[in-house]
Amino acid sequence: MSHQVPITCKDTTWLVSDARERELTSEEKAALTAHIEHCELCQGASKQFEVLFRQLGMFLGKSGSP
Ligand SMILES: [Zn+2]
Repeated sequence: MSHQVPITCKDTTWLVSDARERELTSEEKAALTAHIEHCELCQGASKQFEVLFRQLGMFLGKSGSP
């Protein structure tokens, strides 16, 4: 359904560090969140990403209210 290119865990790491230096495109942000939502490894690491995501205005918990 989504037409974005899947990214790997390594890509995720690169995007996260890139995001400190430049603004990610909406496609990159979408790919990043889509990957993390489906990747247990990155979900574990995503605690470290939270600060970044807050900066990006895309905090992961947005859809997580019980
Ligand atoms: Zn991953």
